[in-house]
Amino acid sequence: MVRGSSARGGLRLEAHKERSTRDPIGMAAAPSTAVLPLDQHAGGAAVPIVAVGDTVAIGQPIAEPAADTSAWLHAPISGRIVAIEPRASVTRACAPALSIVIDNDGREMRHSSARAIEDFLSLEPRELREHIGRGGIVGLGGAAFPTLAKLERGAQASAPTLLINGAECEPYISCDAMLMRERPHDVVHGARILMHALQAQECVIALEDDAPRAADALRAAIAQTENGRIRVQVVPTIYPSGGERQLIASVFGREVPFDGLPPDIGILCHNVGTAAATARWVRDGEPLVSRIVTITGDGVARACNLEVRLGTPISQLIAECGGYTPRVERLLMGGTMMGMALSTDEVAVVKATNCIVAASALDLEPRRREMPCIRCGNCAEVCPAFLLPQQLHVYARATDLDGLERYGLMDCIECGCCDYVCPSQIPLVERFREAKPRLATHLLARDNARAARLRFEERTARLQRLEAEQRQRLEEKRRQARRKDA
Ligand code: SF4
Ligand code: SF4
Repeated sequence: MVRGSSARGGLRLEAHKERSTRDPIGMAAAPSTAVLPLDQHAGGAAVPIVAVGDTVAIGQPIAEPAADTSAWLHAPISGRIVAIEPRASVTRACAPALSIVIDNDGREMRHSSARAIEDFLSLEPRELREHIGRGGIVGLGGAAFPTLAKLERGAQASAPTLLINGAECEPYISCDAMLMRERPHDVVHGARILMHALQAQECVIALEDDAPRAADALRAAIAQTENGRIRVQVVPTIYPSGGERQLIASVFGREVPFDGLPPDIGILCHNVGTAAATARWVRDGEPLVSRIVTITGDGVARACNLEVRLGTPISQLIAECGGYTPRVERLLMGGTMMGMALSTDEVAVVKATNCIVAASALDLEPRRREMPCIRCGNCAEVCPAFLLPQQLHVYARATDLDGLERYGLMDCIECGCCDYVCPSQIPLVERFREAKPRLATHLLARDNARAARLRFEERTARLQRLEAEQRQRLEEKRRQARRKDA
């Protein structure tokens, strides 16, 4: 890896994407059993609408959203529901999560209710947004935020700008680059659908300068649509330029306020995979039942990108890629900077699974003994969120929640840049990840206490007002009675 920083912090890292991009996107075999955690999106877990023993077809809805921020889940294979029970899941760091389990009948039966919409422009934007929600579409960049919830927020902005994020900055992950290269029409069609759903005036598809083939493919696809409101913008390959806030700054030169979200400044950001999934659902009637996954690392025999049905065990993907090499040391979901370590490969691919790295020592930064902070400032220099990681570290160690709040811990995107450059080998991100839930609980408790105090003050004021009004009425009655007696 090569070190360096930009004006907004960040690092120039070796990409490690050559191995996985040599072959075209392949098709993974359908799993014999699909395990589908109900919490595989941000927000409330979905609620099953099928029962054990039911037969289902591909694309059939099997769980419905439980709240405004939640998502539909559809069957990725045809077969029989054999269990609805907790199973080890990547959504819980390999701990059990309630899941629907389907045994494949091998018939590849497709559900008939999904309708393909030839002319999406004939739909009202609100109708189109609701339809997108029914396709189970979520952000495929890794966060799995329900797309409907994001669109509803974005639609409140007047004439927002749509930013399609193809800046896949993290090393090893190449599923978005391959998608843009091989299926640019899906990305562009999805962008047009999202533009109509949002009534966006302009759309920018942003990607990094290390993906020139993808940029050319997108430009050609845009030219065919003759849509002058969509353009491609290439940004420098600096990790983590694909972070939403970092990309917005890079493309538009604008900052999202720390306590705000992109729609607050009229910009809505969706991943390229999300745009393509939207196109497949709206245009072809295919809900989100599969996604492209990068399988890579020195610990797997063959690196590649595969279109994988949700619910497929990671062990099956590794086997399809020739199995582990003797050098494998660790399994990660995501890239080597922000990825999550998996303790087992007997967990299933979910909507957020963009990459599996079977890492050997060659892929991993050696972790040496932690030493005291020498206040060198390297970490602050590379922090893309403009934080002071060394200071956050002091407060995290002291469990000083007010200090952590003051120094913006919740704005940390856990990119790992500070860790990477720290000469004292301090596991900064690990400390921040541990401290965040404590701070979140503290902030929630404080907000609840404030709300309770406000409610109490409002109630007291209301009672005092009522009492005063009552006294006034009583006084008036007495006056009237006195006048009558007189
Ligand atoms: S403090 Fe957070 S956002 Fe800043 S470099 Fe470290 S991990 Fe990244
Ligand atoms: S990079 Fe490490 S040693 Fe340097 S200031 Fe930050 S925490 Fe301290």
